[in-house]
Amino acid sequence: MSTAAAPQSVIDLRSDTVTRPTPAMRRAMAEAEVGDDVYAEDPTVNRLQSRAAEIFGREAALFFPSGSMANLTAIKTWTRPGMEVICEAMAHIYLYEMAGVAAIAGCMPNTVPAPNGTLTWDLIEPLIRPHIYYRSQTALIELENTHNMHGGTVYPPAISDDICERAHAAGLPVHLDGARIFNASVALGRSVADITAKFDSVMFCLSKGLGAPVGSMLVGSRDFIDKARVTRKLLGGGMRQAGILAAAGLIALEETPKILHRDHENARHLAEGLAKIPGVSIDPAKVVTNILIFDVNPSGRTAAEVYAELAKRGVLCGPTGKSTIRMVTHYDVDRASIDRALATISTVLAAKPS
Ligand SMILES: *Cc1c(COP(=O)(O)O)cnc(C)c1O
Repeated sequence: MSTAAAPQSVIDLRSDTVTRPTPAMRRAMAEAEVGDDVYAEDPTVNRLQSRAAEIFGREAALFFPSGSMANLTAIKTWTRPGMEVICEAMAHIYLYEMAGVAAIAGCMPNTVPAPNGTLTWDLIEPLIRPHIYYRSQTALIELENTHNMHGGTVYPPAISDDICERAHAAGLPVHLDGARIFNASVALGRSVADITAKFDSVMFCLSKGLGAPVGSMLVGSRDFIDKARVTRKLLGGGMRQAGILAAAGLIALEETPKILHRDHENARHLAEGLAKIPGVSIDPAKVVTNILIFDVNPSGRTAAEVYAELAKRGVLCGPTGKSTIRMVTHYDVDRASIDRALATISTVLAAKPS
């Protein structure tokens, strides 16, 4: 699917955000029917929103310029300043969204580390504040599926369903950061509607592995989305002829989920290859979607050194810690490129550390 603009020599495994729009997306963008979306008059945006709502089995959906803005909008819509949001200790909203929970929603994140990034009610319950007037109150629970910084791990639906049911019994809404929920759906062999049914709101990205150039969606009830539209405008996210972007998003939404399994197969192939390279530590069985994180500590090198050597040879990846490196597969990296990346990593690690 790769487009002419991608230089052949570089294998970019930094993120699935680097995917370029397909020729079909570019055609759809050029031909998109548009209107002013702040007046809700862009037919292509409206079509994308109703398809997203339909696919998730919800009343409504809203198009956003980024996942960060969609998550922040959901958080701000569910909370008031001075309240708390419970999330996992390596959650994207906590680590990579500019402290927006605090800076803009005025809330305090209340975090707990979870194995594989998978929270359970046992981990969440002790963080819920008692209903006492002189204590700040819990407003929202947030889960992330797949979990980015835990290596694309997937929530077992029984666990996320259980969290939602118990949260509701405690009077708390649950928001899902489902940036890569379609990857979770493919890994589980269950529809996105099915695995997200109990959440009060869901964010997903069109711009990651689905391949759209820009855009994320928030889905939920009509009432929630009506409120979210107000918050989105407050944050500066009211766009005008956004149908140009929504046109690519529609193709990403309808077509790319059918081929995401390839990215997962490539990630597993990459993980199995990495496991055979001396100096690398990784458990390939844990790689179930398109993200993998491996440790180069046994090689005696730092992630930064390995990253720099790989970059010189045209393989791009993301150091995530002193000795850990993240790689993300996507439709612009084919099996042959994965094999070439493996050969390059092998060469770099076989050289004597400087
Ligand atoms: C990418 C991502 C987001 C949203 O990121 P934007 O770059 O703002 O679109 C949110 N959550 C997770 C887990 C992500 O990986």
